[in-house]
Amino acid sequence: MEASATLRYLTEHGVKPSVQRLAVMEYLLEHHTHPSADEIYSALHPQMPTLSKTTVYNTLKLLTEQGAAIQLTIDERNVCFDADTSNHAHFLCTRCGRVFDIMLHNRAADAAPEMPEGFTVEQTAIYFRGCCRECACQQHEHKADC
Ligand SMILES: [Zn+2]
Ligand SMILES: [Zn+2]
Repeated sequence: MEASATLRYLTEHGVKPSVQRLAVMEYLLEHHTHPSADEIYSALHPQMPTLSKTTVYNTLKLLTEQGAAIQLTIDERNVCFDADTSNHAHFLCTRCGRVFDIMLHNRAADAAPEMPEGFTVEQTAIYFRGCCRECACQQHEHKADC
């Protein structure tokens, strides 16, 4: 994504742009791998020696608060982030630790269970845990389709 598009994205979400915030947002928009704060820091630090871990954490907190990104707690040891704020579920492979996007065709999150009166849903998180195709293949090497 070009720099001006990232700038626009931040402004649209009410985030005052700074060099660091632009870099973090751009990384999230370009990497749909659900990176953690540490991964983002490690990736950006070589090009931005002045960037601190605290800045990365604070930026991610701000982006999440402003709705520019979502925070996933699918892996409780490793909070990760996603610039795709559309309605989708996540799948954590417990073997390789990767987090995959799962599309919701039936808009399951919209068909919310009946809420008690006066309750408003602001966020829905659907998490699945299991074994991804690649890891399943490694377990069953005789499978022909791998
Ligand atoms: Zn896996
Ligand atoms: Zn996602």
